[in-house]
Amino acid sequence: MSSNVRFHVSLADPAAHLFQVSCRLAEPNPAGQVFSLPAWIPGSYMIRDFAKNIVEISAKSLTADDIQPVAIRKTDKQTWVCEPAAGELLVRYSVYAWDLSVRSAHFDQTHAFLNGSSLFLCPKGFETAEYSVEFEPGKDAVGEPMADWRISTAMRAEGEQGAFGDYLADDYDELIDHPVEIGRQRVLRFEACGVPHELAISGRLFSDTDFERLRCDLQLICEHHIRFFGEPAPMDRYVFLLAVVGDGYGGLEHRASSANMCKRDDLPREHQSDVSDGYRQLLGLLSHEYFHTWNVKRIKPAAFTPYDLRSESHTQLLWAFEGITSYFDDQALVHTGLISKESYLTLLEQIMTQVHRGSGRLKQTVLESSFDAWSKFYKQDENAANAIVSYYTKGSLIALGLDLTLRKHTDGAVSLEDVMHELWEHYGKTGRGVEEDFETGFDGIQRVAQDLSDLDLQPFFDQALRSTEDLPLIEWLADFGVTLNWRQNYGAGDRGGKRSETTAKATLGALVTDNSGEAKLAAVFDGGNARKAGLSAGDVVIAVDDLRVTAANLETRIASYALGTELSITAFRRDELMRFELSLEAPQDDTAVLTLVEEPDEQTLARRTAWLGS
Ligand code: ZN
Repeated sequence: MSSNVRFHVSLADPAAHLFQVSCRLAEPNPAGQVFSLPAWIPGSYMIRDFAKNIVEISAKSLTADDIQPVAIRKTDKQTWVCEPAAGELLVRYSVYAWDLSVRSAHFDQTHAFLNGSSLFLCPKGFETAEYSVEFEPGKDAVGEPMADWRISTAMRAEGEQGAFGDYLADDYDELIDHPVEIGRQRVLRFEACGVPHELAISGRLFSDTDFERLRCDLQLICEHHIRFFGEPAPMDRYVFLLAVVGDGYGGLEHRASSANMCKRDDLPREHQSDVSDGYRQLLGLLSHEYFHTWNVKRIKPAAFTPYDLRSESHTQLLWAFEGITSYFDDQALVHTGLISKESYLTLLEQIMTQVHRGSGRLKQTVLESSFDAWSKFYKQDENAANAIVSYYTKGSLIALGLDLTLRKHTDGAVSLEDVMHELWEHYGKTGRGVEEDFETGFDGIQRVAQDLSDLDLQPFFDQALRSTEDLPLIEWLADFGVTLNWRQNYGAGDRGGKRSETTAKATLGALVTDNSGEAKLAAVFDGGNARKAGLSAGDVVIAVDDLRVTAANLETRIASYALGTELSITAFRRDELMRFELSLEAPQDDTAVLTLVEEPDEQTLARRTAWLGS
C-alpha cells in the first residue's frame, strides 16, 4: 500500500451507532501533527460542526520496536494537535453516527451511511496526498457477519468494487466527495452514453416495486443531461445512492455520485403505469442532483475554488447553481417524454405559487438569499415565509425568464442551454471559478449570457437579481403560448392549478399543524386573516365563534363562513387563554394557473415547440 494516509473504518459497533476509525500517517509532521474535521459539507450551506460527533480520540506512535502513547489536544472546536512523535502516527477515534439524512452519517444493524466530511480527519499538510480507506465488516442484527453487505460508492476500490477492502482517493477533497452506503442493497445498473451507472437502493421496499421502470427512466434522464452538456461525460462512473424511508426527502450532489432519500411510496409499483406525484418528484430529485455533476461540482463559484470547510463561504450565486439546476431538472422530464407538457406546467404552477405565497420575496433579493443561506435559508424559523425568498424556487423562475428572454430576443438562436454550454467550456472544464462582484452583483453568468446573445441584459438582471419586484412571468410566458392567471388560494394545502370552486372562500392565512389533535399554528403569514386577528405562530386555536375546533377542521370551519363575517377566535398562547376578533377577508391572489394556449399563432407555436418539445 503506497498511500500516504491510511484510514481504517470498523463496523463493529452498530448498536451504539459508532464508527471506529483510525488514521495512520507514515511520516507525520515532526513538529507535531495537526488534524481537523470540516465544519460543513459542500452543497449544504450550514455550519454543522461534524467534530461534535467525535466521542473519543487517542494517538500512538509506532516504531519498529516500540509503541508509545502520544498526547493529543484540541485547539479549537474542530482541530487537534498531536505532540511530536517518533515513527508512524496512529490516531484512533470513534464517530457517533445517528443522523438519517444525506448530509452526515448513520449507522445501525441495518446499514451504514457516511460522508467523509463526518468521518475522516484531515491531517494538515496532507491535503494533496493519496488516501486509502479500508472498510472492515462487523456483525449484523442476529450476530452474523455482514456477509451480504456490500459497499456502494463512487470511490474506486483497490480490489473488487462493492466488496469490503481498500478504497482509494487522490486527495482529501476527493476522499470526502464520495459518500458511502454499506449494507444490503438492490443495485440497478445501466449505461448512459457509454458511462456505467449504478442506482443503489437501501431500506425496506414494497415487494412489487417496479425497478425496471425506474432503471429505464433514470437512464433516459442521465443520457439527456450528458448530451445537454456534450459528450464525453466528466466522470467515468456514476453512483446514485437512494435511501428509502417511510417519510423523508433530500439529495446532495457529489462529483461522481449523489446521496438521495425518498419515501417508499414514491417508488413506482408494478401495477402502476401513471406517473404519480411522488414518482415525478423522485425523478425530479435524481435529475436535479445529476445536473449538479456539471453545475456546481465543476462549474462553481470562485468562492468554492477551493472550498474552505472551516467556516461559512459566502457567494451570491446560489440562485444560479440551485435555480438553474432546479429549472433544468424538471425540464429534462418533459424533454425525455417522461411527463407531459401539462404535467410540466403543473410543476411550474407549484413553484410560482410557492414564491408568490411568501411576502419574503418582497423583502429579500435572490442575491441576498444566496449570501445569507448559512444563517437564513438553512435556519428557517416560523417567520421564514415573511422574511426570506428561496434561491431555489425564485432562482428557477429567473432561469425560466432568462431562457425565454434569450430565445425571444435572438429569434431562437441562443437559449439558456447555450449559456450552460459556454459556462461548461469556460469554467467547468478549466476548473476556473465563476467570478462575482459582491458590490455590483455582476457575475460570470451575466457576462456569458450577454456575450453569447449580444443583448443588453442589464435591465433583466437588475430586476431579477437586484430587486424584489415580482418577475414579469405573465409577459414572459405569453410569448411562448402559455397563459398565467393568478387566483385566490384555498388554504395552505392548495399548491396551484385549476380548481372547480368559483366562489371566494376565506382562509386562515396560517400553517396549521396537528398537535395531538389540537390546531397549532406553525406559521402565520403576512396579510392573512390570522395575522390581522393578531394570532401568532405557536398559538393553539381551540374555538371559532365559541365552538370547538381541532387541527382536522379549523381550515374548513373558517372556509364555511362568508367573507365579511365578524368572528371571534379563542386560542392558547403558552398557557394563557386569549380571544381575537376579526372580519374575514378574501385571501390574496397568489396561486398560479397555467394554460397552454390552444391555437397560438405560428411564431408563438414555433417558440413553444423549441422550448418544450413537440
Ligand atoms: Zn441542488
